[in-house]
Amino acid sequence: MTLAAYTPRFLPEPLIGLFQLALDLRWTWHHGSDELWRALDEETWETTHNAWLVLNSVSGERLEDLAEDPQFQQRYREQIAAHNEFRDASTWYSDDCPGDLGRGIAYFCMEYGISESLPLYSGGLGVLAGDYLKAASDLGIPVTAVGLLYQQGYFRQAISTDGEQLEFYPYNDPTMLPVSPLRDEDGQWVRVVVPFPGRHVRLRAWKAQVGRCALLLLDSNDPRNEPGDRGITSELYTGDPEKRLQQEMVLGIGGWRLLEQMDIQPAVCHLNEGHCALALIERAFSWQQEHMADFHTARVATRATNLFTTHTSVASGFDHFSRDLLGIYLAPWLELHELTIEQLIKLGSVSVSDSDAGAPHLNMALLALNMCGRINGVSRIHQKVSQTIFQPFFNRWPAEDIPAEFVTNGVHTPSWDSPESDAVWTRACGQDRWRRPLQMSCPMTHIPDEELWEMRRLQRNRLVNYLRRRLASQHCEQNPANNHAASCGLLLDNETLTLGFARRFTEYKRPDLLLKDQERLLGLLASRDRPLQIVLAGKAHPYDQRGKDLIRQWKAFCRRPDVEGKVVFIEDYDLGVASQLIQGVDVWLNCPRHPWEACGTSGMKVLVNGGLNLSQYDGWWAEAWNDAVGWAIRPGATFEELGRSREHDLYDARELFDLLENDVIPSFYDVDEQGLPRTWLQRIRASMDSLTASYSANRMVREYVERFYLPMVERGKQRSAGTAAEIVAEHAEIARYWPKLRFSTFNVTESQGTQTYTVEIYLDGIDETRITVELVAEASEYGPRIVTEMPERRPLAGSAHSYLYECTVPSRPEGHYTPRLRVRDERLNLPLENPAVLWLR
Ligand SMILES: *Cc1c(COP(=O)(O)O)cnc(C)c1O
Repeated sequence: MTLAAYTPRFLPEPLIGLFQLALDLRWTWHHGSDELWRALDEETWETTHNAWLVLNSVSGERLEDLAEDPQFQQRYREQIAAHNEFRDASTWYSDDCPGDLGRGIAYFCMEYGISESLPLYSGGLGVLAGDYLKAASDLGIPVTAVGLLYQQGYFRQAISTDGEQLEFYPYNDPTMLPVSPLRDEDGQWVRVVVPFPGRHVRLRAWKAQVGRCALLLLDSNDPRNEPGDRGITSELYTGDPEKRLQQEMVLGIGGWRLLEQMDIQPAVCHLNEGHCALALIERAFSWQQEHMADFHTARVATRATNLFTTHTSVASGFDHFSRDLLGIYLAPWLELHELTIEQLIKLGSVSVSDSDAGAPHLNMALLALNMCGRINGVSRIHQKVSQTIFQPFFNRWPAEDIPAEFVTNGVHTPSWDSPESDAVWTRACGQDRWRRPLQMSCPMTHIPDEELWEMRRLQRNRLVNYLRRRLASQHCEQNPANNHAASCGLLLDNETLTLGFARRFTEYKRPDLLLKDQERLLGLLASRDRPLQIVLAGKAHPYDQRGKDLIRQWKAFCRRPDVEGKVVFIEDYDLGVASQLIQGVDVWLNCPRHPWEACGTSGMKVLVNGGLNLSQYDGWWAEAWNDAVGWAIRPGATFEELGRSREHDLYDARELFDLLENDVIPSFYDVDEQGLPRTWLQRIRASMDSLTASYSANRMVREYVERFYLPMVERGKQRSAGTAAEIVAEHAEIARYWPKLRFSTFNVTESQGTQTYTVEIYLDGIDETRITVELVAEASEYGPRIVTEMPERRPLAGSAHSYLYECTVPSRPEGHYTPRLRVRDERLNLPLENPAVLWLR
């Protein structure tokens, strides 16, 4: 590491502000300073899009020259002024937010996809976290994000001639990444220490500036650590559970300690996935110390302001660690706070009130669930899926009552728009449209068809040019086949309907759906008048043999002489490749097996650019789709109907081909005398108008603020140490009496279409104000689900602790209504915070 990289001295005085500009990742979405970086070092800028690297690789001579160059000086001063203005500007949060987030939000995630020049992500989860941060910056939300700085990040992909995925792990030299050492008030480089068995692991801390928000990154590559420990943060998503646990300790325990050391004291802690759940334990420990309280009280006091967002669609997708591994690694840390491994595992296995602990694994999602005040999935369907996944851990609660909510994901629009679409939107809605709450409908109607179509054509041209350049550097070298032009993608065509498919290659995403009927696909590609061309990209996880096989299948198909140049596979899918594809394609295809796609975000990225979606009715598309905006495979499908069966692939493939043949392709080529495809343009306009704002991260972040953070902060204020202790005592009391509660008589009288139910309940000394009785009927042909409170009528004179409850409801057949008894406490989020429930049967 060179000292120069961290001391601004080597820059000529008049250009000193370049540091500030280069270290603010705002350049990844706001292109005002592009010209500066290009002027400094065009080649480095074009190949890396890393302003910090540009600044570090430019020669002193060049800098001296530019410092004298009036034109550069002018540009530079403009950008510095613009940047200062941006830092000081008022925002939605400062002006219009209906509440106060105090010291702000701490956001934890295992990966962040901010830019291809900061490769600390593997896919959707990281890109979402990056988009969240950028939108938080736009809106002025005080967020501090915490993550890991991997020495290698996720692997880089190449593909051999025979379709084999090759994996490379280039070294991330931190001095070349757009981050700087995190310093404390005295200018010292901040270090964090995490207890490990028999030693302490020292962590270095870095800061990536993402507009107004900071992303703090930890790595263990401190020369004073043992060699093995230096490699803890070497790579992302290793298959080794031991290393994974070490990473989660660094992120969770180290991350929370880092915030404390910086005196950040967040109002809300938001976990993006369960990997970072140990942060919540460390948070409780810290509260415990401050208040001289026990762990249970600390947990109750802190959880009200912990939010857990789950992105997983199958229970097996959650991280879990064995008792043995936890015993080795966590014991020294837990001992400091007098918590045992068993107690910790109990928090991450079954719901806390349930007494049969002893599960041999700690499930990180359940740990998060038991340490949080609210939980959310990432689309409406995913809410249901999450309720089903978590249901077994809420003993005897029906899935509908599991307290998982949802916030549909969104993308950071300014990061994904093209220069062409940016110009069109600016004309329609003005310069600053993405900074404030987006107008839900922007008057795209004022943009004439000609202009919209011109935008689409320019974008497609740029994509085709880009693809040819990429292909020239990949296939051509490897595959000097007979048809050289084809293998370099020269047969790609500027005016041909272009379909894009890019995502992780894994079975549930079904990248091979189009290959299910190769004859039909060949027919579409070969059509003389109405051809189709396809661009593909995606990595398979290094251990996912099936995913690699899917890549092989496509590569084999691409090499067929009758296909070459019409279907191209771009290697090394990353944010850079994604942004090119989503700007240029006409149609974005997504065909996951329903209901496995928790949300899916890549399709949202085409909206702003006038691309159209052709997708499985799953995740976000099940909410967004209607006939006017795009195409859905198996529209209206429900999770219950499809379950997790694999038998629908052929059906879905047929429906996909039918849509392409009968609707998508004819509509694209159906042009009028002016050469404009009017129906297609109508769809583009409808899609841009009605979906762009709704599926933006701007909307998503505001939803988190308004529906979650602000109410959670209020609830947190009511959890004083005293209240938390009171709640703990009450829970203990309820748990003591609960096994003795029982229903006695349950009667019904019928009158003119209504039924009046009465039930007698023995409460064994629990204060009757602490419980509530409900009458429940599941949905049936007699009507929707009913859950209605049965108010208390009176104590039963003849027997102590017995009470009569009664309510009147619409009539249903015998056996449809069942009473249940649950905890009542306005201060708690129930049943999350106390799942005790008793049913009559
Ligand atoms: C958007 C994006 C993803 C996520 O896409 P999905 O549709 O959710 O699979 C993954 N990787 C990259 C590089 C992206 O840009």
